[in-house]
Amino acid sequence: MSDTFQNNHREAENLARDLRRKGIRDERVLAAIGKVPRHLFIDEGLREYAYLDKPLPIEKGQTISQPYTVAYQSELLKLKPGEKVLEIGTGSGYQAAILCEMGADVYSIERYKELYLTAKKRLNKLGYSPNLFFGDGYEGLPEHAPFDKILVTAAPDEIPEKLLRQLRVGGWMVLPLGGRMGQKMTVIKRVSEEKFSESEHGDFIFVPMQKGTEE
Ligand code: SAH
Repeated sequence: MSDTFQNNHREAENLARDLRRKGIRDERVLAAIGKVPRHLFIDEGLREYAYLDKPLPIEKGQTISQPYTVAYQSELLKLKPGEKVLEIGTGSGYQAAILCEMGADVYSIERYKELYLTAKKRLNKLGYSPNLFFGDGYEGLPEHAPFDKILVTAAPDEIPEKLLRQLRVGGWMVLPLGGRMGQKMTVIKRVSEEKFSESEHGDFIFVPMQKGTEE
């Protein structure tokens, strides 16, 4: 094992420790954060910030979410190994890698072709193989539904109704709700075929979830 690998590994473990101090409790989330090399999901010029608990810019004016947010959303999923999860907003692919580390069967959609292609190359190189799609997350993936859990990593203007229909009964969606200025982390559970229940879990700020696709 090279020194660089060990140093990176130590940095990831320190980040996990930091998140534990901030209140993240799910051991499988913390173990995944401690393993995934976040510096490989960002521009080399930002290397020194890779393991700080901060969001960072990626291509196309988007962001790689703050590690605390990634961990918090992952914790709210209460994943069991093998569960089928749909992520909206692949972005850098970091969140998808965390879900793969946690043993989920991961599906993820990204609306920017360039981000989709970069994330695909990166994740495959690292040995992760989530099912990645270039498309509009508002549509979800009806042909692969139902999902046990859905994780939305951009802020929609309103509840994406089509996604609710792609949840299995008993499953839930974790998403930031409240428009562009700031959102409440929200969990919407599909209680029965037609019944949903909602709970709120604190304030966050995400990039907007936009309709359609772009190059
Ligand atoms: N999960 C990402 C966070 C990226 S930020 C990560 O770990 O890096 C949110 C991402 O959602 C951006 O890449 C943005 O392009 C994407 N996005 C926004 N609206 C979308 C939509 N309708 N469908 C799919 N992706 C969308």
